[in-house]
Amino acid sequence: MEKYDYIICGAGLAGLSLAYRLCSPDFASKRILLLEKDDKVINDRTFCHWSKETSIYEDIVSKKWSQLRFRSLSCQRSFDIEPYTYKMIRGDDFYAWNLKKVNSVSHVSIKKENIVNIEDDDQIVVHTENASYQADYIFKTYLDANLDFSKSHYVSQHFMGWFIQTEEDKFLENEATFMDFNIPQKGETRFMYVLPTNNKTALVELAIFSNAILSVREYETILKNYIEENLNINAYQVLEKEKGIIPMTTYDFNQHDSKNIIHIGTAGGSVKPSSGFAFSRIQEHSDLICKILLEGKNPLLAQNLFKSRYKKYDKIFLNAILTDKANGENVFSRMFNKLPPQLIFKFLDEKTSFNEDLKMFTAPPTLPFIRAFFEELV
Ligand SMILES: Cc1cc2nc3c(=O)[nH]c(=O)nc-3n(C[C@H](O)[C@H](O)[C@H](O)COP(=O)(O)OP(=O)(O)OC[C@H]3O[C@@H](n4cnc5c(N)ncnc54)[C@H](O)[C@@H]3O)c2cc1C
Repeated sequence: MEKYDYIICGAGLAGLSLAYRLCSPDFASKRILLLEKDDKVINDRTFCHWSKETSIYEDIVSKKWSQLRFRSLSCQRSFDIEPYTYKMIRGDDFYAWNLKKVNSVSHVSIKKENIVNIEDDDQIVVHTENASYQADYIFKTYLDANLDFSKSHYVSQHFMGWFIQTEEDKFLENEATFMDFNIPQKGETRFMYVLPTNNKTALVELAIFSNAILSVREYETILKNYIEENLNINAYQVLEKEKGIIPMTTYDFNQHDSKNIIHIGTAGGSVKPSSGFAFSRIQEHSDLICKILLEGKNPLLAQNLFKSRYKKYDKIFLNAILTDKANGENVFSRMFNKLPPQLIFKFLDEKTSFNEDLKMFTAPPTLPFIRAFFEELV
């Protein structure tokens, strides 16, 4: 059986973000293996995130905006988000960039294999359909099928997006629509976002918080209506499509960690329960894991990154939304009406002071959130 220091199971956003950092000469004495079942060549998702700093992925940022728009019936605002910029990275660029790095160093290797089981005994062994590999630490990035979310708040965020190209100039290249709630809500939280890469092309995407997943036809009808009626575009071509589902949940993913098997990415709770954003959290988590490994400590310590205070806020938010105490459109509209986007970003990044948290709490509808707060307390 081949023996490695670290095995990363799954080469998606979290697996590749960690692998990229482990390619550093600091880890040259380690043997590292990435196991992934797919080729990772398809542009299956677009990673957007806000940031004040430049990152190791700056060269593959395909577009960035410092102007964002929020739209709903009660709030129409355009914001300058400086010192932040909102950045877009295409999935295929992300995969290719990281895989190139992995293939350029000898201490990290990747194998295309389907993992069937991970044994957590005296020895830590990953079994694939073809082979078995032993490791000191396993970083597991994909969700098991049999997780029981019934005791947690859980809602799916499901998407479908089209990269479209218009015949005439239809978009303001320098302004992205962060959220547009001007579509029928159907008793759920539904919004569109529009990310123009130039005056004629944009990613137009629908996001829904609900557990009722739609058929492809239903998503496409909403997209088509929005493009034609809200954006006033009739002549356009669909260049690329993306779709997916992510969990927004208070489920304790870390209960599945052990001394040697650490869950990262979606499987480690990196998808922010109240927003669905994961990119920046995964980068921060990867940095911390590497720092801890270099200190010779157990990377399980990195699981303390996401603070319990914000986990409680996420619980209250999901409680309010899921039990119909408040509707998402109203909550987000009030936030963007009352608060600077920089504060909202800082809060979602879990970097606010307690005083800033208090400012955040002035925005959402008071009674529903107080009720949700007491329910969570009980
Ligand atoms: C359409 C879409 C758009 C999104 N947009 C954004 C965004 O704009 N900003 C943001 O912050 N987040 C976004 N997200 C959320 C989040 O960033 C992504 O879901 C992200 O890919 C999560 O990373 P991950 O590594 O946890 O999972 P994944 O990227 O899904 O990686 C898991 C990997 O494990 C592999 N795998 C699974 N099972 C096995 C097995 N048995 N054997 C071997 N390999 C296996 C999979 O093939 C996959 O490559 C989006 C998600 C989707 C679906």
